[in-house]
Amino acid sequence: MDNSNFDIVVIGSGVIGHSIAFRLKQDAPQLKIAVLGDPVNSLQASRAAAGMLAPFCECDRADRFFKFCRESLDKFPEFLKELVSVSEVSVHFSFEGSLMPSSSYQETWEERKVFFASEDIPHEIWSIEKVRQKAPYLSKDCGEVMWVGEGQVNNRQMHDALMQASKNLGIRVLEANVSGFTRKGSAIASAVTDSGHIYGEQFVLASGSWSSQLARVLEVSIPLKPIKGQMCRVQLDDQFMNYTLHGKMTYIAPWREGNGFVIGSTMEDRGFDPSIENEVIDRLIANAAEILPSLKTAPLIESWTGLRPAAEDLMPIMGKSGRYDNLFYSSGHFRNGILLTPNQADYMSGIIRDTLDDETPEFSPSRYNL
Ligand SMILES: Cc1cc2nc3c(=O)[nH]c(=O)nc-3n(C[C@H](O)[C@H](O)[C@H](O)COP(=O)(O)OP(=O)(O)OC[C@H]3O[C@@H](n4cnc5c(N)ncnc54)[C@H](O)[C@@H]3O)c2cc1C
Repeated sequence: MDNSNFDIVVIGSGVIGHSIAFRLKQDAPQLKIAVLGDPVNSLQASRAAAGMLAPFCECDRADRFFKFCRESLDKFPEFLKELVSVSEVSVHFSFEGSLMPSSSYQETWEERKVFFASEDIPHEIWSIEKVRQKAPYLSKDCGEVMWVGEGQVNNRQMHDALMQASKNLGIRVLEANVSGFTRKGSAIASAVTDSGHIYGEQFVLASGSWSSQLARVLEVSIPLKPIKGQMCRVQLDDQFMNYTLHGKMTYIAPWREGNGFVIGSTMEDRGFDPSIENEVIDRLIANAAEILPSLKTAPLIESWTGLRPAAEDLMPIMGKSGRYDNLFYSSGHFRNGILLTPNQADYMSGIIRDTLDDETPEFSPSRYNL
């Protein structure tokens, strides 16, 4: 196969870039697609995330973003079934739900109850007695607890499956770092990489936190920056807890299958700083242990840093460029890019193939004149 001429060139090999290629190829198998990614990028968000599929715990109003997240959660079981079948890579996924201790949400507890009821969100309020039966491992200071019907995925396995699915579907995965572009009038002709030019009919910029750097090469200014998250993973028996826990400034997510529990996370506006600070990790564990005391003695497996791509208004940027005839964006998925993957892939495939009737103005690149 010609390695330098494609119908669609996706720049970015995180969950966003690969899922767009996956959906496009399933929708239109004749397309010749390449996914370009920087293989040495250890800060990519897709492998750094906790894998919470949490539209209900993360959102507090029923705006268009909330609805998009909710649709994506609903699509997850079918999306993973298809992905696992194409890739033959297993992905741990659970719908056991999340727990929110009232002690962590004191000021907003009543508002949350009203929001959950008014939006028909699956949830239960557990009395202190019920918490003792259903979740005896929680600190007794947690008070009543809300169970919320949402999900959890092992995002590293999901990323592995997406990369393998791309290969199995005949998508070219090129471990290439894009450093520039050539243009032909108001269109992009090629992406310039360390291993030569990659020509395409259409280009998709899906490079997470690095999207603004690449756009700058095209003289486009995306108001998007990395928000750093430090995280860690500790060893606790799989059977210890099935739920994802959302506390104040902390969450604890079960990865199951002997992979322990992920504890997150900081939100730091510090550019592309890759450092991991021991005292920050100690503080994350101490905060989490306030609601889950067993964490105090759980052995640390690893800690890491990742970068969330955050647009100025914290909304995703998804759609066609107004400045280049053949450029599309999918970036800025900030704290929810794992959750948004299935719906985002459908949405972008529809936009790129020009089959989508109903674009969402809140997500449009036109809001930033891109
Ligand atoms: C600590 C942390 C916790 C999170 N937890 C959750 C969670 O629980 N649930 C959830 O839904 N979301 C979560 N997120 C958010 C989610 O991880 C992101 O929104 C999502 O992964 C973004 O995916 P992406 O593919 O756009 O970006 P990335 O995964 O960052 O990928 C960007 C890609 O672009 C490539 N690239 C960059 N520059 C170039 C270049 N010049 N040339 C070629 N390729 C390039 C990189 O190599 C990389 O492959 C979390 C994020 C972090 C950091």
